[in-house]
Amino acid sequence: MSLMKLLGTPTRRLLWMSPCRIGTVFFKCFATSNQNTPTKNKYDYDLLVLGGGSGGLACAKEAVEHGARVICFDFVKPTPVGTKWGVGGTCVNVGCIPKKLMHQASLLGEAVHEAVAYGWNVNDQNIKPDWKKLVKSVQGHIKSVNWVTRVDLRDKKVEYVNSMGVFVNDHTIEYKTKENETKKVTAEYIVVAVGGRPRYPDIPGATEFGITSDDIFSLEREPGRTLVVGAGYVGLECACFLKGLGYDPTVMVRSIVLRGFDRQMSELLAAMMVDRGVTFLHTTIPTAVVKQPDGRLLVKYLNTSTLAQNSEIFDTVLWAIGRKGLIDDLKLDAAGIKTKNDKIVVDGSEATNVPHIFAVGDIIYGRPELTPVAILSGRLLARRLFAASNQLMDYADVATTVFTPLEYSCVGMSEETAIQKHGSENIEVFHGYYKPTEFFIPQKSVRHCYLKAVAEITGDQKVLGLHYIGPVAGEVIQGFAAALKSGLTIKTLLNTVGIHPTTAEEFTRLSITKRSGRDPTPASCCS
Ligand code: FAD
Ligand code: NDP
Repeated sequence: MSLMKLLGTPTRRLLWMSPCRIGTVFFKCFATSNQNTPTKNKYDYDLLVLGGGSGGLACAKEAVEHGARVICFDFVKPTPVGTKWGVGGTCVNVGCIPKKLMHQASLLGEAVHEAVAYGWNVNDQNIKPDWKKLVKSVQGHIKSVNWVTRVDLRDKKVEYVNSMGVFVNDHTIEYKTKENETKKVTAEYIVVAVGGRPRYPDIPGATEFGITSDDIFSLEREPGRTLVVGAGYVGLECACFLKGLGYDPTVMVRSIVLRGFDRQMSELLAAMMVDRGVTFLHTTIPTAVVKQPDGRLLVKYLNTSTLAQNSEIFDTVLWAIGRKGLIDDLKLDAAGIKTKNDKIVVDGSEATNVPHIFAVGDIIYGRPELTPVAILSGRLLARRLFAASNQLMDYADVATTVFTPLEYSCVGMSEETAIQKHGSENIEVFHGYYKPTEFFIPQKSVRHCYLKAVAEITGDQKVLGLHYIGPVAGEVIQGFAAALKSGLTIKTLLNTVGIHPTTAEEFTRLSITKRSGRDPTPASCCS
């Protein structure tokens, strides 16, 4: 056995630490072991987690791995139209998972038509989606994930309570049992991972007649002609899968599409959607929703540029105007926790202003609202609390994907941010359009297949941001995200041999800079 193995993991870790960090860890371990005995008597649990979504579950499960006694609360308030769901949070029930399944359903519809061009004998006149069957399949999968989650919690000995937790003081949470009995429970550490819910606009008819992403994936009737209000991730993704499934979506844009993302890529994505038949109402806001005698919805709206008022009839109105942190029911004042814009303020270790109360996931102020962010920050927090780790969550350069039919994925800085931070004279942008091989036979439009690398202009040209619109963008960018985190340069990128014929290889062929003014349209796929 090697000396290192003999020393064990914690000792090995200490050997890599600076004397100052060793001091901190010794203090933490000593403090923890000192606290352990009285704590076991003083509090009912070592860790109490509020919220059984991506962040809360990851934190709870990691904590029990390190010997902590953990209790986790999860409770879902029904939506205004009565939709509710089981344990697992937004991602599993009303977010990433049903969205990806509906995205896939819409891509398959496109693929069936392409199959004909590839020689499949498919009678494409009869190909149409069955919304009810799709919803049933999607919900069936979700229910199975809910069940597996509960079994997993039981096996791992995380105590799960299906009830809303409310602060009584900074170590005590109150909740109601199924029998409506009020109970209190105490814990040494509390992690708030309550996530958020969709916002509704403050206009007549919004909550009575509109739905949100919380309802669409289990909607029993066909959505029909749908007005999607909001042009962020949720709005664009929902509009696209609805279009792919044969409905007729209109996206209402208050200011710009995909605010916060690279402008050129966002506008190209919107152009791709228009090409595929999605209607956009720009600089427009809704003013009222009125139910018609036939059950359809009359939406009144205002163009904020021209001040023209108009109205249109839709079957469904879907609000996708952002999400609100779920702090209202928590009675955070009872614990003295500071908030900002309905989110919780934390430091670099996810600690709130009350040192033994933490927050992870969507409820944190100013951090990306993404599942892998919630999961990793929850896990790392549990390791810091119960396994003497000192690793902090790194929120920089988190890759993300908008799941439209040509997906848009990116990691790192947008062109605008790079220019703002470094100055345009210090930035080089490599870019190119490309032609996916598989698009040729069905003659699919390649007009919006585009990618770019934003880099420093000097030296080996450190890559600051990568952007890609095309098939399976998320799969493409995930690997490059690791490279970017490891200090990827344009020199390395162009020295990397591509995998042919893929679309990801286009990153290794980026030879045209925007500054050169050369035409970024390729002549052929293979030279
Ligand atoms: P949540 O998953 O929201 O979990 C919080 C849980 O706590 C909920 O069950 C809530 O009901 C419960 N709760 C609230 N208050 C209390 C209380 N007082 N007591 C007990 N329980 C309480 N992210 C991606 O990375 N990729 C995607 O493709 C993606 N797609 C998305 C699509 C949609 C339509 C939406 C809405 C979101 C999507 N997201 C995606 C975002 C992702 O779902 C969230 O970032 C993630 O779920 C956040 O996890 P969380 O643990 O912070 O909160
Ligand atoms: P976003 O904040 O991304 O977008 C909200 C949109 O609604 C914006 O276009 C905004 O316009 C508009 N809007 C806001 N208020 C109003 C209003 N009163 N009237 C009209 N329009 C309005 O929120 P989403 O709900 O789309 O997504 C929430 C989060 O969920 C995302 O930030 C993301 O982190 C996560 N998510 C991730 C996904 C993924 O990873 N693929 C998919 C879906 C969600 P304006 O720009 O003018 O403010």
